[in-house]
Amino acid sequence: MNRSFPPSLAALALVFAANPAFAVEAPKPKAPEMPPFEVAQPYPNTWYGRFGPTNCSWIDMGDGVLVIDTGATAADAKNLKAEIARTTKNKPIKWIAMTHFHSDSNDGFTTFLPTDATVFVNASATGLIASSIAQGKAKAPHVIGISDHIALVAGKQVFEIGVPAGNAHTAFDLYVFDASTRTVFAGDLVTTDRCPMLSDPDCDIKGWLAILERFDALGARGLVPTRGNPTGNAVPEIEKTRRYLTSMLAFLVEKKKQNAPEARVSGELAAEQLADYCPRELSALNALSVYRRLLSDGTTRPGSAAARPAAK
Ligand SMILES: [Zn+2]
Repeated sequence: MNRSFPPSLAALALVFAANPAFAVEAPKPKAPEMPPFEVAQPYPNTWYGRFGPTNCSWIDMGDGVLVIDTGATAADAKNLKAEIARTTKNKPIKWIAMTHFHSDSNDGFTTFLPTDATVFVNASATGLIASSIAQGKAKAPHVIGISDHIALVAGKQVFEIGVPAGNAHTAFDLYVFDASTRTVFAGDLVTTDRCPMLSDPDCDIKGWLAILERFDALGARGLVPTRGNPTGNAVPEIEKTRRYLTSMLAFLVEKKKQNAPEARVSGELAAEQLADYCPRELSALNALSVYRRLLSDGTTRPGSAAARPAAK
């Protein structure tokens, strides 16, 4: 089934336009501005919203709510919490899953503290999350570090929460898969119509490609990324990401075999068309960041995470 998730911004605009208070009092529109958030409900128990730059999702599991990603800032997290309370009629947050730890995805986490929720993170990130909780001086929640995948069963609902075997977009990636709607909440592993970001110091293209295969094996149909618009048709987006990563890796391995200097890598990459949705500057940034740590077999030397004492 090819299903498009509803465009919520238009719906939101209609609500505002239909309200006389907004119609009469609204000031003249300034330059186009992104609203702080918008919310859509693709399935009866599932919502996602854009809070600041970040998509966050939540699922009503019956007697509690599963939240996926906590937003970029305390203000975004506050808006997210308010929307969760409004849409689920104040059901408690029982689970929080974090797709990775780039600040735009989960710096809002401490705003959720204290919480009775169980928190799921990549097992490599348990040290990071422990220090984040300690800084908040809040009652510590239960944290579960995942090193492969688990099934989260709540009532009749079954979710797979899993992680790559090693590094991928970062050292700390995690995905959530809703088996009933076959929707994957993919973090930044697939960003619809946006250039994949390979410049994290722990990025590993081979590991990233492997986790895309897991999404294939799961039969992912819906896709909610951290960045870009959610879609009911995950396959072409996963494929687009795979093509970009595969081409980038082949190009860089070839240059590595030639022992090419970085300037030549950058120059020759400009002549390549790896993906039309990737601006050249961004592709060059991606390429150089990986090239510096690349080994001739296509794997990468460990990045900064290996040096972090708290990391696994
Ligand atoms: Zn990211």
